Amino acid sequence: MDEMKPSAVDNLTKILSEKGSISVADYMALCLTAGGVGYYRNGNPIGASGDFVTAPEVSQIFGELIGVWVMIVWEGMGRPQNFILAELGPGRGTLMQDVMRATRAKPEFRQAAHIHLVETSTSLREAQGKTLRSVCRPEWHESFTALPEAPAIIVANEFFDALPTEQYVFHGDSWYKRVLMLDDNDRPVFTAGRLAVPPVEILPDHLPNEGDILEHCPAAVDLVSEIGSRGKRAPCALLITDYGYDNRDFGDTLQAVSAHNYVDPIQPPGTVDLSTHVNFAELRTSAREAGLTPTSVLPQNEFLMALGLEQRLRRLMTNADEEQRAALFLGARRLVDPFQMGSLFKAMAITSAHLPPPPPFSPESRAIQ
Ligand code: SAH
Repeated sequence: MDEMKPSAVDNLTKILSEKGSISVADYMALCLTAGGVGYYRNGNPIGASGDFVTAPEVSQIFGELIGVWVMIVWEGMGRPQNFILAELGPGRGTLMQDVMRATRAKPEFRQAAHIHLVETSTSLREAQGKTLRSVCRPEWHESFTALPEAPAIIVANEFFDALPTEQYVFHGDSWYKRVLMLDDNDRPVFTAGRLAVPPVEILPDHLPNEGDILEHCPAAVDLVSEIGSRGKRAPCALLITDYGYDNRDFGDTLQAVSAHNYVDPIQPPGTVDLSTHVNFAELRTSAREAGLTPTSVLPQNEFLMALGLEQRLRRLMTNADEEQRAALFLGARRLVDPFQMGSLFKAMAITSAHLPPPPPFSPESRAIQ
């Protein structure tokens, strides 16, 4: 008889019984990007037939307006003749394809831009290559640190939410690392691990209550600090668009999505998409500490409207038939409707210190905290 492969659930039980416990961030890394089992290592999770749909998949206008934004930033940088246009976690390559369409009108920009994609998934790299085949020749990297040194404009949609996040839980009168471990019945549960003090930057002004949770994303902080070092040598601008929150407060935002539904985050590793809401307040603090300038945080609807969503929609509608018009309208509405993606999703830019704050953002005001 063939030996049976241990199922992924048994794997989790095995890992937990061997290690005793793993932190939330280690659990996210195991589920999302670990070799062999990671969710983003296999398959195509994005789109109607996958687990979730992202803004560039909802409407071409999203990527086109980001195309407008990157051209504005390039002008603000003094039109460098060679620069990196990078995307972190490009999914199916749709956003970059739309950026390319929008920037066609500016050949000087297109000539100067070298496209770099940071992607861990082999199958998504293939999808990206196919989508972009006729518009550019991207170079792929496994991690951000591998990007060559040059002036850089970097975009990241729904990338930061996938970075492993640590959680701290307040219990009794102390903070603990939140971990996953086996209970008395050998079932994995989230619980308080060892005593650990959360970084002071993420502590709210008010005191915690029993069970309150704080979130800290070390991978995001490291990435911003890496941009900080690069920003001292060459101009850099990063645009983050993602679901998230912009206040220092308690809350557990760890979520799992499968086939367009929320499910229990404790799942066989690799079978569902795990993420947390992006802690924009923490990113802003990290940016300042890294010697960069963060902008204000705008809700997605304000960001897209200010970049000309309505004008672009009208323009596309004039050349469309009735069915296409309905689809264009629905897609654009989904991006900006506060009950859909307009308000939970937010945009923030982080730039090297000497660059002017890119429109439509205002310079970050300390009062927002
Ligand atoms: N930006 C795309 C896809 C979002 S899904 C869109 O908006 O449609 C998250 C993307 O980030 C996927 O492409 C995934 O493979 C990639 N990714 C997740 N974690 C990563 C990591 N640690 N390093 C590099 N890429 C990662």
